[in-house]
Amino acid sequence: ILARIKDVCKRNGLLILSVLSVTIGCLLGFFLRTRRLSQQEISYFQFPGELLMRMLKMLILPLVVSRNMFPANLVEATFKQYRTRSIPIIKSNKASSESTTRRIIIYGVQDENGSNVQNFALDITPPPEVIYKSEPGTSDGMNVLGIVIFSATMGIMLGRMGNSGVPLVSFCQCLNESVMKIVAVAVWYFPFGIVFLIAGKILEMDDPSAIGKKLGFYAITVVCGLVVHGLFILPMMYFFITKKNPIVFIRGILQALLIALATSSSSATLPITFKCLLENNHVDRRIARFVLPVGATINMDGTALYEAVAAIFIAQVNNYELDFGQIITISITATAASIGAAGIPQAGLVTMVIVLTSVGLPTDDITLIIAVDWALDRFRTMINVLGDALAAGIMAHICRKEFIKDGDERSFCMRSC
Ligand code: ASP
Repeated sequence: ILARIKDVCKRNGLLILSVLSVTIGCLLGFFLRTRRLSQQEISYFQFPGELLMRMLKMLILPLVVSRNMFPANLVEATFKQYRTRSIPIIKSNKASSESTTRRIIIYGVQDENGSNVQNFALDITPPPEVIYKSEPGTSDGMNVLGIVIFSATMGIMLGRMGNSGVPLVSFCQCLNESVMKIVAVAVWYFPFGIVFLIAGKILEMDDPSAIGKKLGFYAITVVCGLVVHGLFILPMMYFFITKKNPIVFIRGILQALLIALATSSSSATLPITFKCLLENNHVDRRIARFVLPVGATINMDGTALYEAVAAIFIAQVNNYELDFGQIITISITATAASIGAAGIPQAGLVTMVIVLTSVGLPTDDITLIIAVDWALDRFRTMINVLGDALAAGIMAHICRKEFIKDGDERSFCMRSC
């Protein structure tokens, strides 16, 4: 038995450490609350967690660029295979208010001139400062979708350039490998960072007894909805399409889910989601490098669910009777608004404005839910990451025949899977 326990610990060491650090972070946070630390002491305490966030964010740009440009000559072939499957999903989801919501976040523009098609085009061809600098209204955003489109286009063109494109292809290959090596080393810091990230947030939160009973019910409703969606609906979809065991798949991405819980950011979790999908679930690399960044930007099931519940809660607080049509409107606009939310902490709170406006609810009432949003954000981010990972798993399953026919590095992964 001891030998078996040793073996399990050896194989899942990092995962066990991550689970332990979430638990220790919660206990430490609640214990230190009783000590009434000063603001300065809290900020010193939060420093290791801040380092973790910076480390993750530092990796996103090189990872997304190198993964989408390399290997350039494979991109075009891959694109042909799955653009017919991925792109229609993106188009149909994005068509309505994605552009409106992203423009509010990215450009700070509230009123809408021009069509949705124009705005979508603006989003995917952003000026350089929107890729590299902070987005107005958010602290640390990055237009991942714009970067994916730009890098994939570069990749296709490099593939067509033949020998003259080789230096840049080799550069991307080295960049890609070195980023993955950094990830492999950085993951050992994560459990330590998670303790301080979670404990630091608990130290900052408002007094739980001050949070009203109604707000408590609201939080429980959101969490129950997320649990049902994450544990039943998404895994069932995965099972019906792939006929594979979703529990095995979810076990493979547990570490990414814990990082999502700790960071509240699907974008910051991207490097770990990549690692888990490739190493544990053997998802095709080409699928992962395309589906994950796009998913982290526009596929936010957790956020959509939370925004719909929050809008209904605000209506109830205001004694506002919603009819069936308005509930449907809320569901549709919440889905559209979630597509526009960036993969960063509490972005969903910003896009809530769209949902509330659609049924004439007061947008100022967003302040009612701020007290519990930091906690709910962690759970919905987990579901967002889970949805992206399962989508990549489903895509890998749908495309498996093409990859086996290809006979390249991927088919090896697919066969071993
Ligand atoms: N924090 C979420 C994410 O990164 C977005 C949100 O709902 O606020 O996926």
